[in-house]
Amino acid sequence: MTYSITLIPGDGIGPEVSGAARQVLDASGVAFQWQEALAGVAALDALGDPLPEATIEAVRAADATLKGPTTTPTGVGFRSVNVAIRQQLVLYANFRPARSLPGIKTRYDDVDLIVIRENTEGLYSGLEHVVVPGVVESLRIITAIASERIARFAFETAERQQRRRVTCVHKANILKLSDGLFLDSCRKIAAEFPAIEFDDCIVDAAAMKLVSNPHQFDVMVMENLFGDILSDLTSGLVGGLGVTPSANVGDGMAVFEAVHGSAPDIAGKGIANPTALILSGVLLLRYLGEKEAADRVERAIRAVLAAGETMTGDLGGQANTKQFTEAVLGEL
Ligand code: NAD
Repeated sequence: MTYSITLIPGDGIGPEVSGAARQVLDASGVAFQWQEALAGVAALDALGDPLPEATIEAVRAADATLKGPTTTPTGVGFRSVNVAIRQQLVLYANFRPARSLPGIKTRYDDVDLIVIRENTEGLYSGLEHVVVPGVVESLRIITAIASERIARFAFETAERQQRRRVTCVHKANILKLSDGLFLDSCRKIAAEFPAIEFDDCIVDAAAMKLVSNPHQFDVMVMENLFGDILSDLTSGLVGGLGVTPSANVGDGMAVFEAVHGSAPDIAGKGIANPTALILSGVLLLRYLGEKEAADRVERAIRAVLAAGETMTGDLGGQANTKQFTEAVLGEL
């Protein structure tokens, strides 16, 4: 079986890390047919559109998509293509596991939790307007349909991965209507999964508890902005943005990408850590049902990190992207 994969190289370090991840996936023993599609500044420069329709179609048509990070101008300019891809293709679930890796010294050992972020609404609905000069309103949309859908994804993930508990993270004490609806939706779906424990935690307390004892959490589900922030926090618990993968999942479609951005400060230098995107490739293999290949690639990454001889700069080493990738290919 040959899988058709759309590769979006992205901006900044995107082409460097996506090239590395592609090489590793090609060496995984699974056959891929790759087609490249542009998005972000690369697409704007080449085609005059940061998210061409052809790219959306290529993601829709593929068995899965591997995406490098894309740059979003701050304050002005085009809207985030990441948000647009997730919304246009209804990739409603953002799955971000945070699992300790060997050879990376962090404050805690044996962290193993999953952040599940609602990907289509909340403050990312992009509904902002000037009420009068000097006053701007942003609409934070929460719907029952999207909240129940993400809650169901969280419980189904917990069930499939034999997890013990799902925690709904919210701010329903202050946002009584919107987060009240999100929490109620989670409670409703929890009733369908009696074998999995359910509890909830206010987002500010969740941030403190994650930093003081991350082992108390298992699967965490939350709306868009809270998920964006807390998943960067959990990535910091296991070694940082350079090592944290993610998946954007919809019905019959998925886009796999690192949690990190295009890292303009190190772009073009060949020193980015490709681990996050390679581990996103591991999630892609699991999504395709290629468990053995996924385990093989994950073992290879863990072996290189455990040996500690070929670490990239963000992990305190001297290796560049190419040397790290070759070490992983060597292990494979
Ligand atoms: P960033 O994640 O790009 O970088 C933050 C810091 O982490 C930088 O110091 C960077 O050098 C470092 N870093 C990130 N990835 C690394 C890697 N693989 N190896 C080594 N070091 C790494 O965050 P930012 O600087 O806030 O954002 C830059 C751009 O990326 C912005 O335009 C932002 O909108 C965009 N962005 C895109 C995505 C995405 O495409 N999914 C996600 C986040 C940010």
